Amino acid sequence: MATFTEDRSDAQNVSVADIEHIRNAVQALCASFPGDYWREKDRTKTYPTEFVDALTKAGYLAVLIPEEFGGSGLGIRAASAILEEIHKSGGNSAACHAQMYIMGTILRHGSPSQKEKWLPMIASGELRLQAFGVTEPTSGTDTLSLRTTAVRDGDDYVINGQKVWTSRAEHSDLMLLLARTTPKDNVEKRTDGLSTILIDMREALGNGLTIKPIRAMINHSSTEVFFDNLRVPAENLIGEEGKGFRYILDGMNAERVLIASECIGDAHWFIEKATNYVKERQVFGRPIGQNQGVQFPIARSYASTEAAALMVAEAARKYELGESIGKEANLAKMLAADASWEAAEACLQAHGGFGFAEEYDVERKWRETRLYQIAPISTNMILAYIAEHVLDLPRSY
Ligand SMILES: Cc1cc2nc3c(=O)[nH]c(=O)nc-3n(C[C@H](O)[C@H](O)[C@H](O)COP(=O)(O)OP(=O)(O)OC[C@H]3O[C@@H](n4cnc5c(N)ncnc54)[C@H](O)[C@@H]3O)c2cc1C
Repeated sequence: MATFTEDRSDAQNVSVADIEHIRNAVQALCASFPGDYWREKDRTKTYPTEFVDALTKAGYLAVLIPEEFGGSGLGIRAASAILEEIHKSGGNSAACHAQMYIMGTILRHGSPSQKEKWLPMIASGELRLQAFGVTEPTSGTDTLSLRTTAVRDGDDYVINGQKVWTSRAEHSDLMLLLARTTPKDNVEKRTDGLSTILIDMREALGNGLTIKPIRAMINHSSTEVFFDNLRVPAENLIGEEGKGFRYILDGMNAERVLIASECIGDAHWFIEKATNYVKERQVFGRPIGQNQGVQFPIARSYASTEAAALMVAEAARKYELGESIGKEANLAKMLAADASWEAAEACLQAHGGFGFAEEYDVERKWRETRLYQIAPISTNMILAYIAEHVLDLPRSY
């Protein structure tokens, strides 16, 4: 199995000044995508193609891909800074953030020829790998109970089943699928028997693959995906058959750090928006921000955000050193999601009725940041992780 360090070696050379430079450049890019751009996309539930194209062109979605495969290999601190700045600007990187990290499974566990074949085209943006098929309607959080099967038949796998909440499937060329290749009853360890398979959706659509959009509370390109005897070349199996669950877990820590960075960005946006508003808004002949009842929730959310940001930075730092970050990644995700939600509530409350008006963007960001209490992992499951793996308490489920 490939080691974690191989895709992080360059990253440690990225200086604080480099990260600052990236932040400034992302801020400049995001200035071309102001609130009314995101508001329109949200209202019409359309994909922010122009924004994704601009990020791709600037190379920001390929910062985790090593230079030898066409990326910049800048590492997770750079990736975190990019996502944080997008969210701090009022935007939302959910339309494309997975293009940054789903490829990690190929990078860490793919064969040399798979890496050569896919990574350069993912790095250039020619191919979009931003659909990740794990969650199913019946298994939910209990990933090991998923029912989608991939059965070997000659040189193919034949796939049957269903995924739900597969984000961006309609805006992706490839999907990384987690499916059962060995029945649950025939495996030694309960974590065995699941495999990661790369599906070329351009070939699969209409040939056993169907995608149905889900109308949701936020503009997230959510879909349901159905597999009906879909044939996929067996050479698209990533890593060893039966070890897919482990590969997915490997990638989840990076994903948690990146999502946590988005939450930190959101929290800063809410705090700035709220602070500016309460200084301006006059009620009873004085700014509402003069009232401690208005100040304190904003100040408290600022404290939570600064503390969470330290944990995110620590998780990213350790990740780049190749250390194991299960604890830090989970803490970072939970604390950052809590901080962004606290800031969202403070901001909405500070705006009074105007918080509900679309033109302020508060209600949109409030809906968007609420997601992170549930996805990609719910707060309860993080608490269960901390209880079991950090505090050594009995497993609760
Ligand atoms: C907008 C959006 C985008 C998403 N994108 C993707 C994607 O691209 N790919 C993908 O695979 N999935 C995706 N998901 C799915 C997401 O990861 C799941 O919704 C999430 O993991 C929770 O699973 P569930 O919805 O089935 O909830 P359930 O598993 O049904 O859980 C419901 C509630 O019960 C709680 N709960 C369940 N079991 C326990 C327990 N043992 N102890 C305590 N509490 C428990 C949970 O914390 C949760 O609050 C997305 C979801 C959304 C909403």
